[in-house]
Amino acid sequence: MYEITRIIHIDAGHRIADHTSECRHLHGHRYEIHATCQAAALRSSGPERGMVVDFAVVKEELTKLIADPCDHGLIVDAEDRTITTMLGIADADVQWVNRNQTARTASNSAGFKIYLTPFPPTCEHLSRHWYELMSAALHARTKGHVTMKKVRVYETPNSYADFPSVITPSITENDKGTA
Ligand SMILES: [Zn+2]
Repeated sequence: MYEITRIIHIDAGHRIADHTSECRHLHGHRYEIHATCQAAALRSSGPERGMVVDFAVVKEELTKLIADPCDHGLIVDAEDRTITTMLGIADADVQWVNRNQTARTASNSAGFKIYLTPFPPTCEHLSRHWYELMSAALHARTKGHVTMKKVRVYETPNSYADFPSVITPSITENDKGTA
């Protein structure tokens, strides 16, 4: 199994409403996000010959799915009524996220960049959320050649979460050989 990792950084604000200490305050982080991809074989022809996948492809997906909606924005739990009210986030967006349990950008009266989530924006939830987005996108884009192994999210230089925590996809007969 071959493995590569592409890293991006974004700046974003959040708060953890239920937290009893510092994290309940609205604050920001420079998130460092590691996307680790695997393939059973390297590409045997074409512009990606000798690669799992072009790093640029991973970066494009990271940019589209994570940086574009979240960089220099606020990541807000749709159930955090204090913040959704303060920012004037549209009720329709809050209700849509709660009903569909799916994150989305939200319009708001302040004109801020808001990414509304159906979960408290902890490192653990964000790593799982971004893993699921990246996994689906890369699988589709590479027609199943590439598997996302994990997404690691650093909230600070000393604190990070991995999702999934342990995974080694089994290699089936169909995965062996070159692709
Ligand atoms: Zn924080």
